[in-house]
Amino acid sequence: MERNDALARGVRERLGLSGVPAFNLVSSPGSGKTLLLERTLRDLGDELRIAVITGDVQTQNDADRIARWTQDLVQAVVTGGACHLDASQVTDALDAIDLDALDLVFIENVGNLVCPASWDLGETAKVVLFSVTEGEDKPLKYPKMFQKARYAVLNKIDLLPYVPFEVEKAKACAREVNPTIEFFLTSALTGEGLDVWYDFVRSQAKDSILAAGGVET
Ligand code: MG
Repeated sequence: MERNDALARGVRERLGLSGVPAFNLVSSPGSGKTLLLERTLRDLGDELRIAVITGDVQTQNDADRIARWTQDLVQAVVTGGACHLDASQVTDALDAIDLDALDLVFIENVGNLVCPASWDLGETAKVVLFSVTEGEDKPLKYPKMFQKARYAVLNKIDLLPYVPFEVEKAKACAREVNPTIEFFLTSALTGEGLDVWYDFVRSQAKDSILAAGGVET
């Protein structure tokens, strides 16, 4: 873990020197990380140069899905059983990425709300996804992840008419463990709410960050 934290500091330093932010997407399996990234690349790919590092326990399926939408680099990390990405894998992935030619990096972590909370990847911020097909109390059940995340994306809101899910209750649960967490409500499937997410992504990209005084570390 100490070695991981040292490597994570190295990642953060490299990102900082290039002025490129990196967002670590974490969630339980099936919350919609990959689809959110596909839509984001499809809709912002002409404006922003975005690289993606995507981890899965097995298969390159997500990397293949994401790569359809971008000319920029998609790095697949197959963890071979490990339940999270670690900073050494991100370090290796960055070796293959020309940071100076990028505006932003997304890291799609392994779908798991427990272990990825403990592993610093050197990211600028964690973005935790959860969906309306899960329980509103997920933040209370997995508090560490929601404490570590600066942003939360509540996804699959197109299903709200069909499932007994109270958005305000979910937000209250998240704020109970992290009072400053910022919410996005999206459907990566229908596109609802993605305009707000895209404005956020634009605001975080390299040029916007430089204009605002550099990457927060
Ligand atoms: Mg995925």
